[in-house]
Amino acid sequence: MLTVSFKRFLVGYRFLSDTIFCAHSPQINSAGSNPTIFHAKRNYLRRVGLLVALAGTLATYSIAEGYEPVNILSGGHRLQGTVCLPVGNGPFPAVVYHHGGAGRRVGGAPEDTCTALASAGFVGLAVIRRPTRPLTGHLDDADAAVDYVKKLPSVDPQRIGVIGFSRGGLLAWQQAVSRRDLAAVVIMAVAVNPELDLDDATRINAPVLILVAENDTGSKYTRNRDTARFTRKLVSALRQAGRKVRSIVYPPFQPEGHTLFFKVRPEYFSDVVQFLKSNLKGNKGINKLSDSDLLVDSTGTDDAKISDTSSSDVIPTRTIAQCGVDTHQHLYRKMPFSDSAKDLISTMANVGFKRSLLMPPPFAYNQPYTFDDSSMNPSLLQITQTYPESFGLVGGGGILNPWIHDVVETNKTIDNTELMKFQVAAETILAKGAKAFGEMAGLHLSTNSRHPFISIPANHPLYLRLAKVAAEKGVPIDIHLEVVNRDVLKIPEDMRKHRGKKQGQNCFLTTAEGGNNPSQISNNIEDFKELLHYNYDIADQLGKPENARIVWSHVGWDNTGDMTVDLLRTMLKAHPNLYLSLKMLENPGACQVIENRPLKRDGSIWPKWLALIKDYPGRFVLGGDVATLNPERNTAANIAGTWALLNQLPQDIALQIACDNPKKIYNLN
Ligand SMILES: [Zn+2]
Ligand SMILES: [Zn+2]
Repeated sequence: MLTVSFKRFLVGYRFLSDTIFCAHSPQINSAGSNPTIFHAKRNYLRRVGLLVALAGTLATYSIAEGYEPVNILSGGHRLQGTVCLPVGNGPFPAVVYHHGGAGRRVGGAPEDTCTALASAGFVGLAVIRRPTRPLTGHLDDADAAVDYVKKLPSVDPQRIGVIGFSRGGLLAWQQAVSRRDLAAVVIMAVAVNPELDLDDATRINAPVLILVAENDTGSKYTRNRDTARFTRKLVSALRQAGRKVRSIVYPPFQPEGHTLFFKVRPEYFSDVVQFLKSNLKGNKGINKLSDSDLLVDSTGTDDAKISDTSSSDVIPTRTIAQCGVDTHQHLYRKMPFSDSAKDLISTMANVGFKRSLLMPPPFAYNQPYTFDDSSMNPSLLQITQTYPESFGLVGGGGILNPWIHDVVETNKTIDNTELMKFQVAAETILAKGAKAFGEMAGLHLSTNSRHPFISIPANHPLYLRLAKVAAEKGVPIDIHLEVVNRDVLKIPEDMRKHRGKKQGQNCFLTTAEGGNNPSQISNNIEDFKELLHYNYDIADQLGKPENARIVWSHVGWDNTGDMTVDLLRTMLKAHPNLYLSLKMLENPGACQVIENRPLKRDGSIWPKWLALIKDYPGRFVLGGDVATLNPERNTAANIAGTWALLNQLPQDIALQIACDNPKKIYNLN
């Protein structure tokens, strides 16, 4: 039998911030004379009655341990909410409920849903949004609620779900589009509203459960709008976009289908709980849900068999926010790295990934040598040691690259002694904790007078020696290589020109024009192929072909026009040790060849690119390549520009590219 204990909690008290206030909890021993307490207690007991009724249907429910009124500040409004805690010790997954209605009319069952969620093992939060009728600010309120619940001490911020009913369903959709920290989204009887853009379906990552009653086809509650029909459109938009979606159409609920969700009812709530459990607390991660789990349409409820999962055997759902790695990032060198690092950490949280690999840019021979930015205080090495959860180190761009470049530019002869000295320097970098060699340069075009032009044949003896060390140690080399896949590239003739303010000017200035680029660059892809072969052969001879890994960085950011999908496909096919690191600035300028960028200007993916990624999903990583805090570059937007690719991919491939590939290629733990 259920036992009920009445406990009050100070929820989130230690997490007060500028924008979040928590109501003072009245003292329990004054309950008899305190009307607030009395009211709360009465509500609580009423809910217990409801839960006992639910428990009859959903055998495994336990009772919620407590709930607490909270206030959340959003855009100058003080929003009333309720937090409901499950029995036991956290961290728990949490689910935020967005009610329907607008203005003073609240649709749905915020408090009862909150309590029912807690009794199902989730921290529940229901917040009453600002009492204004227009939609303005309502998404902010919904976001404030999610942000609030993530900070609660008993909540695992990696396992957050939302449920939205009617207008709340519209907000849940908008959050699924804009946020990357949701692992499950439930949309019930969604509002028919032009603010819901079906084209946004491609931008949704979280699995979605969509519920509607068959006869929700027009009533006073929806101003006669056909919710059921709009729901079908929503489902097919998500399907077409390859998203994980499950939809359930319930039999007619009399007399108005919309009212099915006015209360917590076992006939739909059991489906909600089952979906939340499988995505937030079951032993299946998002990526592991099979199609048969999700791509099911049914009329009427499934026969839900929910087995209660005790918190001890919960395997957390994996999200990109939790495991995503950007494999190519820089810090800004004109201020202390510590500032730039903090900026990058907050950008990573906003864009929605976990870790970045930091590396020095490829220095030129005439720039001062520096052992991987050790001239900076703190150094790159120190930064990665201070924030091991957020960063990993890649080294070599500060010393190995100018070393090779110097040998090339000054025509130095390479003897065995020089090769050994170079090899020791490379091995020292790994001994200091670097996960890879980078950023190295093959061909690096100069975009302005302060930006170096570097051209090093990829089959240079020192490059080959680096490839040997890399194969022996099983680490990758990250190479910046603008590609020339023709006999000679002519500058400026073969390059695009500026548009906009610099209309008609050359994008890449030659030395004759005051820039750093030569007027002709000869073919370099054949040299690169030699490097790839050499690296593979060394590893193969050691019996460890998987040790060979060359990461071609900034793929998708093409300036010569030669980095075509066809070339990349040929290269991937011929070289099992080749990996592609994708970079896409948010707004590609006229200088870049947009056809060779995975995403079109409207943000959708080119079919050819999608096919390539689907054929070689294990060979791609993301590398945002933005010097964070550099005022000349919109850091956050540009990093987001690269990560936006994931929205265009099936969830399993997105997770592979964001999480699994970096882990494997860079030996991350
Ligand atoms: Zn680069
Ligand atoms: Zn770079």
